[in-house]
Amino acid sequence: MSAAEADWTSAVGLLAAYDEVVLACHVGPDGDALGSMLALGIALRDRGTKVRASFGSEPFEVPAAYTGLPGLDLLVPVAQIPEAPGLLVIFDTGSIDRLGALADRVPAAADVLVIDHHVSNTRFGTVNLVDVDAAATAVVVVELLDRLGLPLTAEIAAPVYTGLVTDTGSFKYAGTTPAVHELAARLLATGIRHDLISRDIWDNASFGYVQLLGAACARAVLEPAAVAGLGLVWTTVTDADLTATGLALSDVEGVIDVVRTAREAEVAAVLKHDPADGWLKVSTRSKGAVDVGAVCGSLGGGGHRFAAGFTSGDDIDGTLDQLRAALAAAPHLPV
Ligand code: AMP
Ligand code: MN
Ligand code: MN
Repeated sequence: MSAAEADWTSAVGLLAAYDEVVLACHVGPDGDALGSMLALGIALRDRGTKVRASFGSEPFEVPAAYTGLPGLDLLVPVAQIPEAPGLLVIFDTGSIDRLGALADRVPAAADVLVIDHHVSNTRFGTVNLVDVDAAATAVVVVELLDRLGLPLTAEIAAPVYTGLVTDTGSFKYAGTTPAVHELAARLLATGIRHDLISRDIWDNASFGYVQLLGAACARAVLEPAAVAGLGLVWTTVTDADLTATGLALSDVEGVIDVVRTAREAEVAAVLKHDPADGWLKVSTRSKGAVDVGAVCGSLGGGGHRFAAGFTSGDDIDGTLDQLRAALAAAPHLPV
């Protein structure tokens, strides 16, 4: 469902009332989180607003796929974000804890505008623009720009396109509606280099990543009986993998995209050891018969129906046992 008309009016009112805004997105920002945030950030700066944008990841680094995006100069480290912002606008973030080191700015801000599309969104803003039918948060941002009467320039279209291709898996996933393609056409018409944007996102691995991917795939485990007979495929990314290749956790998000292609399994999972806190970051994907968003929700995480995650302080065996149990109990959806 799209956001209510009253929420759109309130959101437009908030953005008109402030001449200084703070923008934030979820930790470990992906193309939609970063793209949505930079797109609105550029548009607001172009109209004369002071904009500071950030995300609460340690270390504070933009993943290589997005280092070519316009608007990165709006980014400042968490320490330079005011402790009590006037207007705080939050992108692609279903709950406060997903803001990491910026979570404490939410209760401190005078106004909080949440722009998102997660089904699991907890509506933690004073105004919430949450459209659970939107293919990406970037789609909601474009509607907001239109309602604000701000032009969709090529500089803004590039990060919007980044959000759109990231969250639709290059227009492959369910939810890629005619409107998504119409928006893509509108973005391309601004003259953006969609080929270079896609290359930066999808075809931009370091050699170390190719080696890590090989190692992770080589030790993947297929459990045909799991998920009540629909099958589970899982693997791990260890500290040793990251050390051997010099990669950060944010560099290995794509491992799940390869593991999930195994047709023998309905559900895929990648358990990544986070060297920063020792916890496991678990990514899950389903092909459409299981709501992994609900499964991960029951394990303290969240996400979308077919792409979701959770974090676990348990070890690999314990975490897998919890995941197997939750998957075995999950209802099967009609595909
Ligand atoms: P990932 O597997 O990290 O690409 O995440 C897939 C989806 O699940 C994204 O929409 C994330 O926002 C969401 N997600 C991942 N981890 C968590 C978590 N710990 N809590 C809530 N949502 C999560
Ligand atoms: Mn995201
Ligand atoms: Mn998103």
